[in-house]
Amino acid sequence: MIKFLDLQKITQKDSDELHEAVSRVVDAGWYLQGKENEQFENDYSSYIGTKYTIGCANGLDALILIFRAYIELGVMQPGDEVIVPSNTYIASILAISENGLIPVLVEPSLETLQIDDTKIEQVITERTKAILIVHLYGQCAYTNKIGDICKKYKLKLVEDNAQAHGCLFHGRKTGSLGDAAGHSFYPGKNLGAFGDAGAVTTDDEEVARIVRAVANYGSHKKYVFKYCGRNSRLDEIHAAVLSVKLKHLDEDTAIRRTIARYYIDNIKNPLVITPVINDWDAHVFHIFTLRCKERDRLQQYLSDNGIQTIIHYPIPPHKQECYKEWNHLSFPISEQIHQEELSLPMSPVLSSEEMSMIVKVINQFK
Ligand SMILES: *Cc1c(COP(=O)(O)O)cnc(C)c1O
Repeated sequence: MIKFLDLQKITQKDSDELHEAVSRVVDAGWYLQGKENEQFENDYSSYIGTKYTIGCANGLDALILIFRAYIELGVMQPGDEVIVPSNTYIASILAISENGLIPVLVEPSLETLQIDDTKIEQVITERTKAILIVHLYGQCAYTNKIGDICKKYKLKLVEDNAQAHGCLFHGRKTGSLGDAAGHSFYPGKNLGAFGDAGAVTTDDEEVARIVRAVANYGSHKKYVFKYCGRNSRLDEIHAAVLSVKLKHLDEDTAIRRTIARYYIDNIKNPLVITPVINDWDAHVFHIFTLRCKERDRLQQYLSDNGIQTIIHYPIPPHKQECYKEWNHLSFPISEQIHQEELSLPMSPVLSSEEMSMIVKVINQFK
């Protein structure tokens, strides 16, 4: 069986360093808000290219904390609108509604699968305060047009960088392109911890201060509470692991790109559509997407041939039970993507035998 993602094998790659990092924390007897957090936050800020990194408990919290900071700053109020792609992982949208803000869904482009920047301006109202772009599948969603729209309408640009650590837009890292960004270090992400973990990056000192305080019960100073905060901190053990993994991230990304290139060059089956890549630096291939009209049959066929695949994602957010009020809405492009998308095995430990087996099997699909 070729696994979609073999986490055990990924960890084995840097096993000695990771064991050393975990032992260091175990032996230090200091498990939260210590040296490991400080080190990782500094390393990650230099990597992404922002002034601040604030570690937190997970990627959803990172995004929630950003919008909460804007509400505390008076930049946004509950009831204000935030534009977000209609095809994204549910967490992007939850972060908006959790803060009492209104998600306004915009269709993606079928070619890039990213938010369609020609459809943004028509949904802007007086209540629009931000655009949340999602670098979905590891591909940069930012465009100069989105930057211009944010300037023209004075909107905050927030990035969901949960899937795109190391992705570049003309030499600048995603996560540094907008006003603030949320990152996830869920174990299966390109930069993954040994459990849930996340971070906010920003150049904005006030946002950084508020995010840090709200993530720590609303406190800047022990036992003094300025905000009704939450507990969302990055554990020292995860920070230590992430510092090790960050050093290897660019090598891992290079391998992911090699695999993607191999898939794109060699998958030749008229029933299957491979992605169009215009800028290879702007994609870190967290997910390698295929599209196929007979997706479910293809998935079953691959499974019968020992290849595990995953659908990202089977049901669009507006058709989910948690957003009943949207169930009647129609986002045809998003719906089409949800019906056709299939993700192939992709990771820095996928072997060349596995890659060629996958291609061979797909090319024989009839
Ligand atoms: C994983 C993910 C999140 C949430 O991150 P968690 O760490 O799992 O909370 C948010 N947005 C996107 C696009 C994701 O893929």
